[in-house]
Amino acid sequence: MNVYDSHKMAELLRGSHDLELTAHAEEADVVVLNTCSVREKAQEKVFSDLGRLAELKASRPDLVIAVGGCVASQEGEAIMSRMPCVDLVFGPQTLHRLPALLDARRTTGVAQMDISFPEIEKFDALPPTRAEGPAAFVSIMEGCSKYCSFCVVPYTRGEEFSRPLSAVLAEIADLVARGVREVTLLGQNVNAYRDYSDAACDVEFADLLAEVSALPGIERLRYTTSHPLEFSSRLIAAHGALPKLASQLHLPVQSGSDRILGAMKRGYTAAYYRDLVARLREAVPGISISSDFIVGFPGETDADFEATLNLIAAVAFDGSFAFAYSPRPGTPAALLADTVPEPVKKARLQQLLALTDATAASVSAAMVGSNQRVLVEGPSRRNVRELCGRTDNNRVVNFAGPSALVGQFVDLTITDVAHYTLRGRL
Ligand code: SAM
Repeated sequence: MNVYDSHKMAELLRGSHDLELTAHAEEADVVVLNTCSVREKAQEKVFSDLGRLAELKASRPDLVIAVGGCVASQEGEAIMSRMPCVDLVFGPQTLHRLPALLDARRTTGVAQMDISFPEIEKFDALPPTRAEGPAAFVSIMEGCSKYCSFCVVPYTRGEEFSRPLSAVLAEIADLVARGVREVTLLGQNVNAYRDYSDAACDVEFADLLAEVSALPGIERLRYTTSHPLEFSSRLIAAHGALPKLASQLHLPVQSGSDRILGAMKRGYTAAYYRDLVARLREAVPGISISSDFIVGFPGETDADFEATLNLIAAVAFDGSFAFAYSPRPGTPAALLADTVPEPVKKARLQQLLALTDATAASVSAAMVGSNQRVLVEGPSRRNVRELCGRTDNNRVVNFAGPSALVGQFVDLTITDVAHYTLRGRL
């Protein structure tokens, strides 16, 4: 989501101030830090990066330093007072005001801050997504209203808010006209999607998937992230009914212990999650399911962690993002004693990742010899004379072929595997 937002910022400043992207801060007229505060480590990095930028600004007083994203949203005042080098502070919901903030800074000479939540205004004010290949991200909803006890997102990105269906469809049709064949629908909880512009408010995520999948030119569809709550029977049925919907799903569970899930305020049990996965697999046999986990939540015992390992073994997750719990200021869990010692968190993290990595590796190994349809995205990262594409279950495949295939779907036979990356032959 932050990558998507960063692209939007670059597009905005290109349009308004003719600014071009550079990879080197030393060459920049404006440096924008787009920040994340979901874990403490990411947040600390902002202040150390600002320290380095302050030195650069000492030799180049015209340099404009801007801080956007969730750290800005949460720590705006502190950034302004602790870091006098900062000229602009804006939140995830005010990034569309960046050009105006930059003008205001330059004309008044005074640092500017806007971390309000004007919600839908942002979607209307953003430039259309640039097609930089045959696969693109499209944001369909923003924010989160789940208020999990550990999570800072509702406070930094605001509550759930969806774009009108017509706006989403228009953006995707425009992307198709520019060569896009696959879209990934983006949001904190995409399955909380509702089209508020529809008076009855009965257009939900399953309907949006059906509409996007019916657009001529769209050949594959993914989404991220969904939440186990609001994963309706209609959404499960959509997975069975829409062949363009990729056979892959990232469905964060966080823990396999009901006690911890309760303390996290996730609103479901491990049995509910297992039943959901079983119903999905009934609709789409072989669907690849990955997940997010937090280890070391306050009060997590060995038995709780064991329950998470049991859930992982039962579901056979095809990969995971796992994190050691870090208390976030302003969240209810931050008031609990952080009881699990760091070395225990680390050990649990490694054990968990080893388990999900092993399943992912065996899924990859089982793909050798199979035929896979991939969307050719461009040259391979390791060897520019080769091409790379993505399978339905989201694995990168490198293969030899003519560059004219970029942007098309091709059929490959998988010949080899190195962990998550595959090799194939046309
Ligand atoms: N909205 C999705 C959900 O809750 O199912 C996931 C999005 S969340 C912003 C991304 C991931 O960051 C979470 O799934 C969780 O695993 C992790 N995360 C969030 N807060 C955290 C915290 N305080 N400590 C460690 N990991 C955290």
